[in-house]
Amino acid sequence: MTRFIAPVCCAALFAGGSAASANAQAAAAQVHVDAARAAVAAAPKTPNATLHTFKALFDQACAKPMLPDQMRTNDRSAVVPRKDWFAFPANVFDNLYFIGTKTAGVWAINTPEGVIVIDANFHYSSKELVMGLLNFGIEPENIKYVLVTHAHDDRYWGAKALQDTYPNARIGMSAADWDLVAKDNSPAQFKPKRDLVIADGQKITLGDVTVTAYVTPGHTPGTLSFIIEPLWNKKSIASDEGRHVAAIWGGTDPSIGRQGVQYYPDGQTMMRTHIASLRRFIDLGEKAGVDTVLTPTLAHGNMVEKLRQWRIRNPDHSAIAEVSVKFEGEPHPFVSTEAVDRFNKVLLECYEAQLAWRTGS
Ligand SMILES: [Zn+2]
Repeated sequence: MTRFIAPVCCAALFAGGSAASANAQAAAAQVHVDAARAAVAAAPKTPNATLHTFKALFDQACAKPMLPDQMRTNDRSAVVPRKDWFAFPANVFDNLYFIGTKTAGVWAINTPEGVIVIDANFHYSSKELVMGLLNFGIEPENIKYVLVTHAHDDRYWGAKALQDTYPNARIGMSAADWDLVAKDNSPAQFKPKRDLVIADGQKITLGDVTVTAYVTPGHTPGTLSFIIEPLWNKKSIASDEGRHVAAIWGGTDPSIGRQGVQYYPDGQTMMRTHIASLRRFIDLGEKAGVDTVLTPTLAHGNMVEKLRQWRIRNPDHSAIAEVSVKFEGEPHPFVSTEAVDRFNKVLLECYEAQLAWRTGS
């Protein structure tokens, strides 16, 4: 009989140890989730406190994952009716325009030397989105750069239409994400031809505006994040008139692979990659004096509400001067260094929680 005792004993011990380890990791994850939750909202008397709330970011980034991580496989090549995605453009800084959809942040920076567009959305929407610039007297033919944060369908499929329509526009992506474009299972008619390869730290300057691109792997192997400076708020008479600096974190949620390509061998590697990139980008943002967050997914930066508030104050949003009277004495709704810090905190703590959950699995 005794010869059976050892295996039973060890199996029980192993199971007990594994459960204890999983519990410890769940507890570690909870500490990070709690820290993220504490950073979601501003203190009540903070200016524009309700606008600088990151609940949607928290809800998505801190959601407990289904493990093991699976590649997303949904096919988004069908044309979505315009009424389901169209959103009015808005002139949110003197030289920055929102030209995105109901859910996607697509941004255009206007300078005397041309226009920089960030992200290109889907094949069915991109041309109409950039036509939104005409509302403000800006010709889409002036687009010099389309900088794509990462090689996912909702970011780059529209770049093909822009490349075909505006031959002077250079399409920019990191080398790693251009490689994804070549490899993924997207329909060939949505793939732009490889154009500008953006290196880490590369500066794209038009007029007085510089967009500095950083390669921040995580969401994809070559996701680009951007620091944009300056954004001007000189025409407005909001209380924080002047020069501002914006950051765009290029890809938020854990993504082990998509569109038929696996990026990382496992979820831990994916999250460690995310965290290292985010820590670096936060540090770069602090050095650059970032006071404004713009997000590729509008909900993550509470952008839908910020844009709504901007439009309420600006029913004719083609004329910023008319709007701005109503902002007299109020801070610009997009600007807050306090909010930038909390945005980063929510994201980083949620990523740490995601890693803890995966370490315990
Ligand atoms: Zn994406």
